[in-house]
Amino acid sequence: MFALDTLTHRLKRGCETMAYPDGPPPALPDRHGGALRVDGARCTDGCGACIEVCPTDAITRPANQPIALDLGRCIFCHACISACGPAAITPTGDHRMAVRRREDLVLGAAGGEQLRLAAALDEKLRKLFGRSLRLRQVSAGGCNACEADTNVLGTIGWDLGRFGIQFVASPRHADGLLITGPVSRNMELALRKTWDAVPAPKIVIAVGACAIAGGPFVGRPEVRDGADAIVPVDLYIPGCPPHPLTILDGLLRLLGRLETGDRAPTPR
Ligand code: SF4
Ligand code: SF4
Repeated sequence: MFALDTLTHRLKRGCETMAYPDGPPPALPDRHGGALRVDGARCTDGCGACIEVCPTDAITRPANQPIALDLGRCIFCHACISACGPAAITPTGDHRMAVRRREDLVLGAAGGEQLRLAAALDEKLRKLFGRSLRLRQVSAGGCNACEADTNVLGTIGWDLGRFGIQFVASPRHADGLLITGPVSRNMELALRKTWDAVPAPKIVIAVGACAIAGGPFVGRPEVRDGADAIVPVDLYIPGCPPHPLTILDGLLRLLGRLETGDRAPTPR
């Protein structure tokens, strides 16, 4: 009887995994805001209000240039948006933010207003990992929110396994690391040893502001300000924490499952 009830329930519910990426992506919650956009032309008087309110020093003003906003340092608190009278910084509602190079996360100034989204791995690595990617997750001193939003990808709604991506318990069984947290001094050796234990060729994915640049802990003596101080990083996924859709987008781009290229996000 129990088995019949279960089967009937399953048949009634149908497939609960989202259609994305074949169908449209799920909408971000209203309060999320997505990636930010910097419009240097609107920043006319150079008041610096955004620089003053930013808790992670993500905004700078290089000499004789418009403001630069580092999405890798950003914790998406939106304080700069509220502080900016002429609306030079705006949310885009766009979940796509993952990049291959750290410098590509800097918007405005020399970085331009466009985000250069992550390109796929080279052909050799795509052949190896494109249909089967095993990752060891390393939590290196974060608050657990990045881990939670990564974990969501294993639920029925997201079903990361349909892309051949799985998390494994041992680095010896992994093709790479997915790192969260700012890399506390206490985790530095563990991270090095875990990296050493992954057989080559291997990749590293930094998830969240902490793993990219230290996040809210940036500059503290207890942390190393991100994973790339210890290991080479192949994919940077911003957010605090990144929405699961942002993480999935980055993973699929890395594996060549989504189109790559520049984009100019439009404000909401
Ligand atoms: S949204 Fe990002 S750039 Fe703006 S103040 Fe907050 S942390 Fe700084
Ligand atoms: S990036 Fe934000 S959410 Fe992720 S571990 Fe750091 S503080 Fe927590």
